[in-house]
Amino acid sequence: MINVAGGLVLLAAAVGCLLAAWRGLRGPARRPLAVAGRVAAVTLVVTPLLAYGVWRLSKSRSFQFFGSLVQRVETAEPLVALTFDDGPTPGHTEEVLALLRAQGVRATFFLIGKEVEANPTQARLIVADGHQVGNHTYSHATMVAQSLPFTRQEVERTDELIRAAGYQGQILLCMPGCKRLFLLPLYLQQTNRTTVIWDVEPESYPEVDASTERIAAHVLERARPGSIILLHVMYSSRARTMAALPAIIEGLRAKGYRFVTVSELLAAGR
Ligand SMILES: [Zn+2]
Repeated sequence: MINVAGGLVLLAAAVGCLLAAWRGLRGPARRPLAVAGRVAAVTLVVTPLLAYGVWRLSKSRSFQFFGSLVQRVETAEPLVALTFDDGPTPGHTEEVLALLRAQGVRATFFLIGKEVEANPTQARLIVADGHQVGNHTYSHATMVAQSLPFTRQEVERTDELIRAAGYQGQILLCMPGCKRLFLLPLYLQQTNRTTVIWDVEPESYPEVDASTERIAAHVLERARPGSIILLHVMYSSRARTMAALPAIIEGLRAKGYRFVTVSELLAAGR
């Protein structure tokens, strides 16, 4: 919310400066150097304000210009969704699937298209275990200032690869790093896709991410009914998160939570 308010205030300030500059520069002719000086001064003020405002809005967790953005679901039921972004990768996929199978947990995997292409066996294993599969773009590019053809390709090609892996359920989309501005949200809205992010993200805090125990404790502290929990377990660099997963699952169960896929969570919120 702070990001949204801050971004909007900065945009408003930038627009205000532009209007003031426009009014100041109109009227009787001034000496060219004075006019140039004003233009330079205004540009120096407006450009950083505008850029900072747009940057804040591009990574907001609660606001986007088009379409719906699901950060968590309003529900009184003790339901949470575990989401795993990135991958699939050989070895790590099998490891997390074995743990989820042993614990009887169904989760949602937001997969990267090119990694599905490179590792179709692991993508099929995720589908075969009954998990939900979502789209995390084809190349994991930052989707803030991309062209329409690139945006379309990132989304559509990944959906095709997910279908080729045998997945038949609803395909939700989760943006890399939650970064986007106008075009991706507009494209997703026009193609009736739901954008999902998260409200619990232990790895985003370096002091939490540095310790397996703190990752688990953070999730157990922050999760509430309807929470979407973001975790990464598909790379060796994420070994601490993988190690925290049993404690996260057992700890949330001990608090009475049940694990559902994101689509099931969305349905429970209606
Ligand atoms: Zn990612």
